[in-house]
Amino acid sequence: MDYYSKEISRLIAGLSSLPGIGEKSAQRLAFHILGMPQTEVEQLADTIVSARKNVRYCKVCFNLTDQEVCPICASAKRDRSTIMVVEDTRDLAAYEKTGEYKGLYHVLHGAISPMQGIGPSDIRLKELIARLSDGEVKEVIIATNSSLEGETTAMYISRLIKPIGDVKVTRIASGVPVGGDLEYIDEVTLLRALEGRRDL
Ligand code: ZN
Repeated sequence: MDYYSKEISRLIAGLSSLPGIGEKSAQRLAFHILGMPQTEVEQLADTIVSARKNVRYCKVCFNLTDQEVCPICASAKRDRSTIMVVEDTRDLAAYEKTGEYKGLYHVLHGAISPMQGIGPSDIRLKELIARLSDGEVKEVIIATNSSLEGETTAMYISRLIKPIGDVKVTRIASGVPVGGDLEYIDEVTLLRALEGRRDL
């Protein structure tokens, strides 16, 4: 890449470090940015810095939010007797897009993976169990991915919750392709998986 000057190369390298951005896309974005008015570039950069600085985890469900408690947890319209457990915020967004699920969420931020050295204490599991203590929650829907890690996590959660009694544990139907990330699945399939959930 040394036919570009240093600043341009740095910009391209920075952009291509983002997921899904290959060398060609990074070049296209870089030249687009360089052709933008200075003020627009500054605004874009500010938006990125400000979002990174102000967005944090909801203290209840660990969704990403710029408030202490995210809008879903804060909403009086949500059904507080149901918690859907997902691996990450993008999975939550996928279910929210369907507009059909009215319960609350819990974002684990990962899945148990012995292969990668990720154990139960590395994801937000004890925070989930803590939410079940006041007796308000009647059902926990486990919507982790249908990968090996997702299934391992689902079984682990089920075993943790069972002794609590009173709380039903369900698993979304496996209409979701094996190993498929929830965020790439269309809304109809997601809804079918939710409706077809079974007891664990
Ligand atoms: Zn929340």
